[in-house]
This record gives sequence, structure tokens and C-alpha cells, in this order.
Amino acid sequence: MKRSTRQSPRIVAATESTAGRTRAPAADRTDHAIHGPTRLVNEPLPEKKRRAARILAGLKKRYPEADCALKHYDAFELLVATILSAQCTDETVNKVTPVLFAKYPTPTALAAANSEDVETIIHATGFFRQKTRSILATSTILVQEFAGCVPDNMEALLTLPGVARKTANVVLGTAFGKNEGVVVDTHVGRLASRLGLTWTAKDAKDAVKIENDLRRVVPRKQWTYLSHALIWHGRKVCSARRPACHECSLAKHCPSAGQFA
Ligand code: SF4
Repeated sequence: MKRSTRQSPRIVAATESTAGRTRAPAADRTDHAIHGPTRLVNEPLPEKKRRAARILAGLKKRYPEADCALKHYDAFELLVATILSAQCTDETVNKVTPVLFAKYPTPTALAAANSEDVETIIHATGFFRQKTRSILATSTILVQEFAGCVPDNMEALLTLPGVARKTANVVLGTAFGKNEGVVVDTHVGRLASRLGLTWTAKDAKDAVKIENDLRRVVPRKQWTYLSHALIWHGRKVCSARRPACHECSLAKHCPSAGQFA
């Protein structure tokens, strides 16, 4: 495929110099092929916000129903499913959680579970011993300190074993409808980078900086939707190795469009 040279005049990728394109080191070129331009300079924040609004509108048109892909009945099930989803696909998690929750439907039941039995049930999700320890310990704390309920605030959620900011954002946004932050998983990191919506992150894995940048350019009430929609778009169109720019409805707002061989 012919490499496109189309680019907004106000957007200059870090691999360009003002005198013309400079070739990035080989390692950077490989990273660029997967993640796109990790830094876009010279785009004023108001312009970036307007472009983010157009991207958001495009996502809403294509994915009006974008939601969490992890099957769950309540906040407890979502919390456990999200812990299990670390380093694992949602599809695999969705295969094991019906079995897990049929046997251990509440924090009380899971706190009292036999760990070897839980390890067997969740084995396919990987890191099953560590994840078993986390979900059993989390269930115990929910019973002992939160009356068997999942807390609905960031500070309390972060005290639970196996819960970091990403998991807390998933639970707060999806189970409680609270836009406390943007979930930055591998898809969101990659797309934020390719779409030029992060400018302080050193790469697409720099989740904290990516989240901070996204929070600056997208209105708070859209944070949870943005997370889900970018994840859907990353799965369906803008995959890591073969982004389908030719059929992407965001292409006209994306500085990485057509840059993948
Ligand atoms: S145009 Fe679409 S598919 Fe291509 S890099 Fe941008 S967001 Fe991804």
C-alpha cells in the first residue's frame, strides 16, 4: 500500500524536523508502526479539543451502544471480572466468570471459597494463583470492611488487592455511572497515541499521562463512553498490527491515517 503523505499543516509528528522529514531510528519506526505518532506538537490545545470532539462524534455515530465487554450482573461481578481481565482477553474472562459466579455469587461466598477450586475455575485467564489470591482477599475485605458491598469511590477501591486505577475506573464508570477517569488499556493507549490525543506520554503504555491528556481534551461526562468506544474501535478497526484506515470513519481526523504499510 502506498504510504500517504496527507497530514494536517498544524500537526507535526515528532519524527519530522521543521526542515523536512527525518528518519526515525529503527526501533522507533517499529514502535510507530504499532502505535502511530506518540507525540504531536504544534497543535494548540483548543484545536486538539475540537478535533477530539469530532473524533468523539464519529465514535458515537459508529458505536452508539459501546459498553463494557465484560459480562456482569452487579458491581461485585464486574470488579472480579476486571481483576481477572489483567493480561487476558475479555472473551476468556467471559467464559470462566459464569462458572465462578454460579458457585460463588457473593463476596461472602467467594471469601470462604477453597483457593484450589477457584484456581481451577479461573485457570484459563492466566496468572491464576495471583488472581485467586487477589479476588479472595478482595472479597474478604469487602465483607469485613464494606458490609459486603463494593465501595463507590476511588480511594476505597484502591485499597483492595488487585485493584489499580484502571480497574477502579472500570468499576466506577460502568457499575456506578461515575466519570472519575478514563480507562487506559492497551487499545485506549494505542488509539490515543495514533489519534494524537496524547502529547505528554512517552509511549502508548504510559497510562497515567495518557489518561491525564484524554481528561484534558474530552468533557468529563464522556470519559466512560470514550473508554468503551476506543476499546471497540481498537478491536474492530484500528488493531495493533493491521489498522484498517481505508474503512475507518475517524480517518479524516487522525494524523496516523494511511501511515501503516
Ligand atoms: S485512521 Fe483509523 S484505523 Fe487508521 S490509525 Fe487512525 S484511528 Fe486507526
